[in-house]
Amino acid sequence: MSTIDIGGVEVERVVEWVGPLMAVDTLFPDTPGDEWNDDLAPDHWVPDSRAYRAAIQTWVLRSQGRVILIDTGVGNDRDRPQIPPLSHLNTDFLGQLAAVGVQPGDVDVVVNTHIHYDHVGWNTRLADGRWEPTFPNATYVVPQADYEYYHPDNAHRMRAPRTEDERARFEGIRLVFADSIAPVYETGQMTTHEGGYRIDARLRIEPAPGHTPGSSVVWLDAPDGGAVFVGDLVHTPLQIGRPGDCCALDLDADGARASRRAVLAEAGRRGSTLLPAHFAGRGAARLGMTDSDPVIEEWADLPRI
Ligand SMILES: [Zn+2]
Repeated sequence: MSTIDIGGVEVERVVEWVGPLMAVDTLFPDTPGDEWNDDLAPDHWVPDSRAYRAAIQTWVLRSQGRVILIDTGVGNDRDRPQIPPLSHLNTDFLGQLAAVGVQPGDVDVVVNTHIHYDHVGWNTRLADGRWEPTFPNATYVVPQADYEYYHPDNAHRMRAPRTEDERARFEGIRLVFADSIAPVYETGQMTTHEGGYRIDARLRIEPAPGHTPGSSVVWLDAPDGGAVFVGDLVHTPLQIGRPGDCCALDLDADGARASRRAVLAEAGRRGSTLLPAHFAGRGAARLGMTDSDPVIEEWADLPRI
């Protein structure tokens, strides 16, 4: 089964890419090296190379008669100097989407949890040498704070890069804005939100800033605990027990820690299913509470990748 039902909302995942990305000791500088243990292998890290193993995936929801996508991966044909392994990808993402019964014209809402290259790519596709919206009937919902932060007109306001790696990423984000954000703005399909956005009676977007200024999560409210789609608030299962551990890509580390603590505590109290953007393996897990700490109760019934 590739579909899970959460409070009457059908949830499926479409995987664009999975594999080892970079060294865990670089990506998670707050996490002691010996925290990476056998329980996390082989799904979430590769012990021999000490590489973080990530999936890049889109959550596909059917709620109240509409199709909603949460995050849209890297996309094909992109120039991505900031991440050479994912530059000029050529995947069958749209075929995978069709395999779960979704054609581009069927999509009603696209949520970008934040504006990073691996969350906005399939917003657009290349057609006759131009970037056009992949989903012609969709409203694209984007955080206003990220739209402003990454808009090329405001580039002078971004803080100076601290490392060479960061310099490449800051350069790369200009390309991301041009090929994945500007084209959906230009067709009038984009709407931005500040302080939250309601998708329907069950689904609402809430700000969870830190990873980027506008990073957001999507709550699915349901009596059985529902779910929360957290984007890049959580990159590895280790952060559920260690919410103070940042990813090196978190722009505002203290803000990311505060958002992660708050969302995980709420999800643990409710017994919500946590659906991050990058968990490989079963991709999602229902949380609970032990003492006052959120813990994984049960992995989702999704195919293990
Ligand atoms: Zn990401």
